[in-house]
Amino acid sequence: MSQKQTLSFQAEVAQLLHLVTHALYSNKEIFLRELISNASDACDKLRFEALHNSALYEDAPNLEVRVSFDPEARTLTIADNGIGLSQQEAIDNLGTIAKSGTREFMNRLSGDQKSDAQLIGQFGVGFYSGFIVADKIAVESRRAGLPPAEGVRWVSGGAGDFEVETMVRAQRGTSVTLHLREDAQDYLSSWKLKSIIGKYSDHISLPILMRKEEWKEGEEGKPGEHVLTGEWETVNQATALWTRAKKDITPEQYQEFYKAISHDYEDALAWSHNRVEGSTEYTQLLFVPGRAPFDLWNREKAAGVKLYVKRVFIMDDAEALLPAYLRFVKGVIDSADLPLNVSRELLQESRDVKAIREGNTRRVLAMLEDLAKSEKDEAASAEDKGRFAKFQAEFGAVLKEGLGEDPANRDRIAGLLRFASTQSDTASVSLADYKARMKEGQDAIYYITGETQAAAAHSPQLEIFRKKGIEVLFMTDRVDEWALSYLTEFDGTPLQSVAKGQVDLGKLQDESEKKAAEEAAESFKPVLARLKEALKDKAQDVRVTTRLVDSPACLVVTDGGVSLQLARLLKQSGQKAPDAKPVLEVNASHPLVRKLEGSPNFNDLAHILFDQALLAEGGLPEDPAAYVKRVNALLA
Ligand code: ADP
Repeated sequence: MSQKQTLSFQAEVAQLLHLVTHALYSNKEIFLRELISNASDACDKLRFEALHNSALYEDAPNLEVRVSFDPEARTLTIADNGIGLSQQEAIDNLGTIAKSGTREFMNRLSGDQKSDAQLIGQFGVGFYSGFIVADKIAVESRRAGLPPAEGVRWVSGGAGDFEVETMVRAQRGTSVTLHLREDAQDYLSSWKLKSIIGKYSDHISLPILMRKEEWKEGEEGKPGEHVLTGEWETVNQATALWTRAKKDITPEQYQEFYKAISHDYEDALAWSHNRVEGSTEYTQLLFVPGRAPFDLWNREKAAGVKLYVKRVFIMDDAEALLPAYLRFVKGVIDSADLPLNVSRELLQESRDVKAIREGNTRRVLAMLEDLAKSEKDEAASAEDKGRFAKFQAEFGAVLKEGLGEDPANRDRIAGLLRFASTQSDTASVSLADYKARMKEGQDAIYYITGETQAAAAHSPQLEIFRKKGIEVLFMTDRVDEWALSYLTEFDGTPLQSVAKGQVDLGKLQDESEKKAAEEAAESFKPVLARLKEALKDKAQDVRVTTRLVDSPACLVVTDGGVSLQLARLLKQSGQKAPDAKPVLEVNASHPLVRKLEGSPNFNDLAHILFDQALLAEGGLPEDPAAYVKRVNALLA
């Protein structure tokens, strides 16, 4: 390629560019953070490749970022001597968005600037954020290791296309020149740029250089002014934040660091910064975000922890450093012991990494326990008190995956779960709270699963529990059913689904109730036999129950069986669900059920009873038309 080529942006890029420039308008200055962060990443990559090939340093081994501006040309330039871009890389990386889930992300954008700005923040707009302040961006670059003749110049006005051409470029690395918009001229100021760098990029471990300014007295009564000199000075601390002592880092600095590595807009809920010594030595700096990313439910998605070895950046998204159920955590791990040439494969097998993962897991759980503690702490501020609820709302459901994934920490995870219940509309009941208010004689923690809280709350299975004032927890997250199968007990008390197996309220029933139930069951035996026969294709059994008060019938599954709710979820997601038939339980004292005995329409009534029980817990009759026909026949 020597001639100039004009290429189109991938459709999504054009769309994103439009959104970025509009939605992020009120937070313009982040462009500088994004571009400096790219420059710093490019230097990290060079350092990493140079581990095997030191010739890549050419004659410039000191990696750095230079920020400069030209008031006349109204341009601002961010230059690095990092890895650089080849011509093809410029076309690929600056013309497409390689991130997975881009399309899904686009669909989520609503057109509402404020909420879109938040979403875009989570997505991370990176390079394209330059167009918030620039109406033209020129990138000049040469990849380390390529000859000067193979430099590349990339120019775009941020609309539909960009131009690329070959150029001769002596220096390795990339310079990004922003032609500032009319309303972004205030970035042509050392003071302004320094204050933004101080706020967002202080923790970048590379030196960020700017030209020194000098005060020049005005001549003949004219006011004096600052003028740029030829000398460069470092304007950031230039030490990686996590290597500094905790006491020297302010909360604001932690938050800015969090935002820089996560691309989040909002503050983190909590963080933990520690130097760990023991069988393996490392520094951990972990953050719990305040908001779930748009692709939280993609278990394959990039994890949020960056791995460094002795301050050399090794890789992003090192999934081996945290279990999948903590994939929302962001941060940095800097190991003193891992080899610099560690690969993803090696990470999976390394004993040091296993120790780091376990240490990280414990640390995150401890952070969450602290959040939960401040919720109940009288002395805590309102904001601190609210943090755990915020965490629950965003990540409570993901955390439950840990019950299955991390048996070693199951009890701690269970302690952090919160549920809504028959006594709480909000998901705020912990298993410990539940236990503390169990009734005398109650020997299980009862729960019910359902598609929504309303569906669960109206389930007929709850009737007897309501009547007796026994609390039942609502499990309405999609993961609940699966996760709960791993949590058979909490602190010595078994968990029991109210829709599985026989109800045995044991000591909670008095003698007369037990006796009445037994008698009803006995006298009902002949009807039961006929019901079983009529429903033999639908129900594996029909029996009399004590769990119903107002409803005529309900469906339950056998202990250890797959609940009807889970079977539906499996089918919806295209998986094979076990075909086990449910058990129909009938309320022998209900008028409708009593009516069965002498009815000439016994068969139709039996099917209606079954299908209604199915409807009541959120299912659909196998043959809805037949159901409607039967009901209509009765109504007529
Ligand atoms: P992200 O950094 O999240 O991947 P960006 O849109 O910021 O997304 O950048 C896209 C890609 O362009 C980067 O992944 C990188 O490969 C390349 N890139 C951006 N800036 C630079 C730079 N200063 N030096 C080298 N490559 C860069």
